Amino acid sequence: MANWETVVVETDLLICGGGFSACGAATEAAYWAKKKGLKVTLVDKAALDRSGAVAMGLSAINQYVGVKDGENTVEDYVRYVRQDLMGISREDLVYNIARHVDSTVHLFEKWGLKIWKDEQGKYVHEGRWQLMINGESYKIIIAEAAKNAIADAGGELIERVFIVEPLLDGNRIAGAVGFGTRENKFYVFKAKAVIAGMGGAVHVFRPRSVGEGFGRSWYPPFNSGSSAYFTIKAGAEMTCQEVRFIPVRFKDAYGPVGAWFLLFKSRAISAEGGDYMTTHKEVLQNYAPYGLVKPIPANLRNYLGMIDVDAGLGPLYMETAEAIQNIAAQYKDDPKAFKKKMKELESEAWEDFLDMTISQAILWASQNVKPEEKHSEIAACEPYFIGSHSGASGAWVSGPEDLPTPYKWGYTNMTTVEGLFAVGDGSGASSHKFSSGSHAEGRIAGKQAVKFIVEKGKAPNVDMAAVEKLKERILRPLDLWDKHKNETTDPEVNTNYMMPRQYLHRLQKLMDEYAGGVVSAFKTSKALCERGLELMSMLKEDSEKMAARNAHELTRAWENIQRTWQAEAHIRTILFREETRWPGYYFRSDTPKMDDKNWLCFANCQWDRGTGEWKMMKRDIWTIPGV
Ligand SMILES: Cc1cc2nc3c(=O)[nH]c(=O)nc-3n(C[C@H](O)[C@H](O)[C@H](O)COP(=O)(O)OP(=O)(O)OC[C@H]3O[C@@H](n4cnc5c(N)ncnc54)[C@H](O)[C@@H]3O)c2cc1C
Repeated sequence: MANWETVVVETDLLICGGGFSACGAATEAAYWAKKKGLKVTLVDKAALDRSGAVAMGLSAINQYVGVKDGENTVEDYVRYVRQDLMGISREDLVYNIARHVDSTVHLFEKWGLKIWKDEQGKYVHEGRWQLMINGESYKIIIAEAAKNAIADAGGELIERVFIVEPLLDGNRIAGAVGFGTRENKFYVFKAKAVIAGMGGAVHVFRPRSVGEGFGRSWYPPFNSGSSAYFTIKAGAEMTCQEVRFIPVRFKDAYGPVGAWFLLFKSRAISAEGGDYMTTHKEVLQNYAPYGLVKPIPANLRNYLGMIDVDAGLGPLYMETAEAIQNIAAQYKDDPKAFKKKMKELESEAWEDFLDMTISQAILWASQNVKPEEKHSEIAACEPYFIGSHSGASGAWVSGPEDLPTPYKWGYTNMTTVEGLFAVGDGSGASSHKFSSGSHAEGRIAGKQAVKFIVEKGKAPNVDMAAVEKLKERILRPLDLWDKHKNETTDPEVNTNYMMPRQYLHRLQKLMDEYAGGVVSAFKTSKALCERGLELMSMLKEDSEKMAARNAHELTRAWENIQRTWQAEAHIRTILFREETRWPGYYFRSDTPKMDDKNWLCFANCQWDRGTGEWKMMKRDIWTIPGV
């Protein structure tokens, strides 16, 4: 076995991940842990300042309810999420996050985030729930608060360690194991409670960008399904594994469209000029009541555009020039003011990209796009798993103590595994939390995890012989490489192993062709899912044969294995749900209609640690009375 040092870290609370939800968890948990003399340890695969989906910055905070100014109520937000997810949402969780999110946003501002204000000192909204920010350093600001809180409570921050497997003591979490991505160290974390906040997953499906652009995606490449893998392998019940997210974005550089639709009130059209939201309006009847209420759910908006693409009416375009001209038109009688407004709008358009997707600005520049003169191509991206955004996949977690929710078995945000909590993209059926809501949810879970430790915490019982076996399995790709690398003239072509990139291509091809990726125009069926699962069982066998030259490739290898489990949970749940509820996310051609009678319910799954079998189950939807 590769000669890597074993480092054992003992802690009370282990936070896996360092993104928005984990930073929220750390900030809050450290506060309570300090009072109780407990230790909090946060482990991030990357460096906290720039890790996770907000690494590059954002131009808007997407969840702000505005309760103090009477702008909206928490119940309004619950209705909004119910509507956007076609009736499938955990209203208790959405409610809980919504009632706490404003205070999180106020903390962000206190910590130094610049939120735009108007002349009256009120926040500038992008849309009903979104606030405009100068967000290039958004993640650094939030990370600094988490770092300070951890340091103040005497906790530990460990960066560049990739968490692989959970450690269990019966049905109770006991910690995790992982490895250094820069140093040859194998880590064993022993903990009384664990929070899984390792984001969602990308590159499960083949991206549109292949070849020279390979790796480019809407979702950040470093989130590879670790939260899902960790909770599934711990034996936790999972929910909404079929609810992937497909954003429509500016094509090829995946630039954001929110500011265009919400702030600039732009239209999207087909190549023939038809506004697909109008021309296909009648299709929305099939998805009543959701299709008939504004805002139209994101997946249905996607779907109406996809109808045009399927009919050969692509490319689709964002009418940027028209939108800018429309806004500036109010100054048409004053040429000086008109010119000034045009300049202002032009710079806002570019800043939107420079704040969060710089490559889109570069692509526009390289393709001579002037948004004020010419429209720009948009397209549906490949599918992603991001339960905090408009997808919903994640662990099935316990609801808040004070609501009469039927989903309650202890501590808020605790999974069905004792002491294991899930947050952000890691917790399911509570979509539309975004950056602020994920942080708020992290705070909720952080406090609850400390409460769990105080009330039920016991020293973790970790079987070190089992850990030694895990170490051998986790480092095996290095051993395979060392053992066989000299057997062929090209070390990347070898019958005894495959390289992580080769494995990744195979996984992505499978998902693309059988589970409704870009190549299959987001369509799948029972037969395709079944064949996909058959091929996946062989792929999983071959996952034992991945080789790695170094820690960098070892990370790639384990990212792939984690993605594969996310992929399997996804196909199994699409297969289980015999209807098409989110046609703009995936379309089951053999069950093309929405079926509220049989499927207005959660589709949950659970992998059995003893037998290795998957169990699929329906769970009832609970709606908050009177909402
Ligand atoms: C392109 C894009 C645009 C967005 N735009 C907006 C917006 O405009 N406004 C808004 O409010 N929200 C936006 N969001 C949503 C927001 O970014 C997410 O809701 C939020 O980041 C989710 O928090 P999280 O903690 O679950 O995941 P993340 O913030 O992504 O954090 C995941 C963390 O887990 C770590 N990690 C991953 N794997 C491992 C492992 N194996 N071991 C240890 N650590 C690991 C990562 O390094 C990272 O620190 C956007 C998201 C995307 C992808």
